Amino acid sequence: MTTTRERDQAVLVVSGGMDSCVLAYYYAAAGFDLHLLSFDYGQKHVKELEYAHKYIARLRERFAQGEQGLRVQHEILSLPIASLLPDSTCALLNDEEPMPYGHYSDESMKTTVVPYRNPNMLLQAATVAWGEGASVVAYAAHQGDHAIYPDCRPAFVNAFNAMLAAAMDGPAPIVQTPFLQFSKAQIARLGASLDVPFELTWSCYEGGRKGYGELHCGRCGTCVERRWSFAQAGLSDPTHYASEALDEDEGFHA
Ligand SMILES: [Zn+2]
Repeated sequence: MTTTRERDQAVLVVSGGMDSCVLAYYYAAAGFDLHLLSFDYGQKHVKELEYAHKYIARLRERFAQGEQGLRVQHEILSLPIASLLPDSTCALLNDEEPMPYGHYSDESMKTTVVPYRNPNMLLQAATVAWGEGASVVAYAAHQGDHAIYPDCRPAFVNAFNAMLAAAMDGPAPIVQTPFLQFSKAQIARLGASLDVPFELTWSCYEGGRKGYGELHCGRCGTCVERRWSFAQAGLSDPTHYASEALDEDEGFHA
């Protein structure tokens, strides 16, 4: 660590999505200064970064300009993941690849796996944490991610922390995943209790393309999961979806 801090700082990897937003509010409510990192990695739904700006502006009004006076920094960093994978068939990176519709844990959702996305992002975050003397790095992996996304599983988190400890002498930052065993409905409930502005978050993998504009498609894996999380949590969903029906056709297996 190169500096000593008066208050703990957390370096958070945040997308424009609701889980990331709840994560940021969770650490702010716990009294951490925040250094938030979002990434343009060549994703088709880069629109999510506009929404990251929106909810972080709201968070800043409440926690930075309010009584707590937390320090809140946000940066968007570029990662050349898409350009390192020019032949990728990943549906999040390749314009020609159709977005799979259905439930988040369906086999078809494996086309949305971006190789080594979280380790790439977390290593940037750990580097920032090292430089700023922050003890905590975190991201919003949750239980629903485990089936499809290997870099959201406990085994990955443990291995990554072992790597951080081995890669530098001295006290390494630790990756925390407070939602690792939460369902997305539990994250939604936690967010509601923290008065999180869900309407300022963006999940849809279509990213406003194909004429969706500011609407979520309502049918891609992350839209379906988002809709069910609010329904299961018993919360009203402020999201505007292009497809209003949520039924068996969308592959939700409750
Ligand atoms: Zn969608």
